[in-house]
Amino acid sequence: MDDCIFCKIVKGEIPSAKVYEDDTVYAFLDIAPLAWGHTLVIPKKHVERITEMSAEEAAALMSVVPKLAKAVLGATGAKGLNVLQNNGAVSGQAVDHLHVHLIPRDANDGLGYRWNAKQYPEGAMDKVHRKLTDALG
Ligand code: 5GP
Ligand code: ZN
Repeated sequence: MDDCIFCKIVKGEIPSAKVYEDDTVYAFLDIAPLAWGHTLVIPKKHVERITEMSAEEAAALMSVVPKLAKAVLGATGAKGLNVLQNNGAVSGQAVDHLHVHLIPRDANDGLGYRWNAKQYPEGAMDKVHRKLTDALG
């Protein structure tokens, strides 16, 4: 992807505050953080969404998240952390190169979710459960 900003970061064509790199994974500070230490973890290979990754590629990416999360918590002193991965514009994905956000959290940090929990109408949960298990074969 010639015009992908994160591919350019991986290739060193755009500067980044790198915090970790291995054969398949690159991690760096988000340039517009939700909190100090907000870190992005990306596969070096360009994929847009998690649905495009093989199990092995996803495993390689996620395998470094625990140690990076621990480092982010240690470096920032944050009490908690959100691991967030957006897929598609409707979910908030702005950069079309898959990335995992590590977002340090503290009490009263002003961040939050609109966690508008819903209730299934009678029978709807069974229906969606059947569809989902069918989709998995
Ligand atoms: P998304 O909304 O796609 O899940 O998140 C994209 C993230 O990438 C945003 O948090 C944004 O601040 C970050 N970002 C966009 N462009 C750059 C860049 O050039 N450098 C860095 N370090 N982060 C970027
Ligand atoms: Zn890319």
